Amino acid sequence: MSIKIAVQKSGRLNEDSIKLLNDCGLGIRNGHNQLKSNADNFPVEVYFLRDDDIPQYVEDGVAHAGIVGENVVFEKNKAVEVIEQLGFGKCRLSIAIDKNDQYENASFLHNKKIATSYPFLTQQFLEKKSINAEIHEISGSVELAPGIGLADVVCDLVSSGSTLFMNGLHEVETILNSQAVLIRSKTLNQEQHDILDQLLFRVRAVKRAKNNKYVLLNAPNESLEKIIALLPGMKSPTVLPLAEKGWSSVHTVLSEDEFWEKIEKLKAAGAEGILVVPIEKMIV
Ligand code: ATP
Ligand code: MG
Repeated sequence: MSIKIAVQKSGRLNEDSIKLLNDCGLGIRNGHNQLKSNADNFPVEVYFLRDDDIPQYVEDGVAHAGIVGENVVFEKNKAVEVIEQLGFGKCRLSIAIDKNDQYENASFLHNKKIATSYPFLTQQFLEKKSINAEIHEISGSVELAPGIGLADVVCDLVSSGSTLFMNGLHEVETILNSQAVLIRSKTLNQEQHDILDQLLFRVRAVKRAKNNKYVLLNAPNESLEKIIALLPGMKSPTVLPLAEKGWSSVHTVLSEDEFWEKIEKLKAAGAEGILVVPIEKMIV
């Protein structure tokens, strides 16, 4: 028994998806010019597909799980379960208009022509704002549509905004923030469910590790109390005596969000020789 997981064949999510599965110990080779690949160390077959097709395959149970952007999951609106956000492929679906136009609120969009590859999400946004506009679905290079007179505005994926800028557009409204997610079919039997749960356990350990750093520092014993008060640790920090009398080494785990702020405070409290080490897996 094994499960099938669909990932993007080539494009922005391909590399990070395979890296994540390999960080989970699966042992997959990249599938250029190949439809599927077996994991060496885990009961999984990986299918390489266009990202647009992944929700349908997962709904049908042809693939048991998939890695795809939330933007595609919500646009396709298939009966699949989103089970975990994966922290890569971050972007947003935004409305952008001619850089010389003024935008106060969504009523600007009344009776405009909107070019997008996301007609469902765009329509949902327009309905929420009670706006009537004409949606032109196009499958790629949406940012060119206003320049060639096909549309007045666009609703497209943005990350840095440089593509919009180069095409004389500016972003005025975000309708969805997106990242890659793990989705699951609703048709799994118990055994498939269990395999996917094992994979999910590993995915969470890898994600947690990425968001945390192992920190080692030296401190004079009289500063220890202050320093320990600053540190969470997985249970509480480890304190070991140094060979030099009156000094200790303190080990702990810090999350990426609080990292810089904590380091400043630790230095101020008397910490020296601070080492920061990446964590490969983190099981709590
Ligand atoms: P496919 O051939 O698989 O259909 P695609 O051309 O539709 O590929 P890509 O451009 O490779 O898709 O983008 C895949 C996903 O990457 C998007 O659906 C989105 O979730 C994410 N993404 C992250 N940043 C961006 C960005 N700046 N522009 C577009 N997509 C982005
Ligand atoms: Mg696509």
